[in-house]
Amino acid sequence: MDLHCSTCGEPWDVFHLRHDAIFETDLDPEEAEAWRGLSRRERLSSPYREKFKAAGYEFGASVYNVVRCPCCPKDAKPDPDKAALKSAPAEMLGDDEDGLASTLEEFGL
Ligand SMILES: [Zn+2]
Repeated sequence: MDLHCSTCGEPWDVFHLRHDAIFETDLDPEEAEAWRGLSRRERLSSPYREKFKAAGYEFGASVYNVVRCPCCPKDAKPDPDKAALKSAPAEMLGDDEDGLASTLEEFGL
């Protein structure tokens, strides 16, 4: 199951976003491991967002809402239409991240 970056359209595997992307940050492996067990909100709290940003990732309300990714051209801006389309299901489904991933994929987002 792939989800697309809102800025460059690069497909990202859901499993990678949920389990592997955190290891691309400069967190210790133990910290990254602990991150996997956090709630949706805790996983995207500011300190983690900063770590992800340094590794090239920016997310919306969920790690499944990829706003920017390491493949993005440096000055590219997110597609406002795609970003808006993604934010509705992200708010609606909240903590149901599996539901969110399949909804986004269904719409090819
Ligand atoms: Zn991208």
